[in-house]
Amino acid sequence: MKTEHIILKRANLTNNCPECYATDGMVLSFMQEKKTSSFIIKTNKKVLDNIHCSKCGTQIFPGRWTPDIERVYDYHRKTITAKPGSTKFTGLSYAIVFILITILSLGYIYFSHPELLGLTS
Ligand SMILES: [Zn+2]
Repeated sequence: MKTEHIILKRANLTNNCPECYATDGMVLSFMQEKKTSSFIIKTNKKVLDNIHCSKCGTQIFPGRWTPDIERVYDYHRKTITAKPGSTKFTGLSYAIVFILITILSLGYIYFSHPELLGLTS
């Protein structure tokens, strides 16, 4: 399974970084996780967030947030719309189901009504 992140929103924060005190380095991201395999695509409805400072290259964990960062975070959190969680089948899944149905139908006809296949002699 391949995991990707769907970016819902990315915002540049002007708050002071708690690590390096730069005011133009922090980026707040909201994202959702999407897992893809050959058969299904699954979107997790849980919204993940992350604040990263590009000046000092540090991820700012919630324990390090200042009240100002929390306020800005809450503001942005309200503006995003999360995608509903979903599980979708890929084209390959449908193709396999279609092939199976075809094989089963042919098998059924072969055993029950061989005359339909022109097999009676
Ligand atoms: Zn920093």
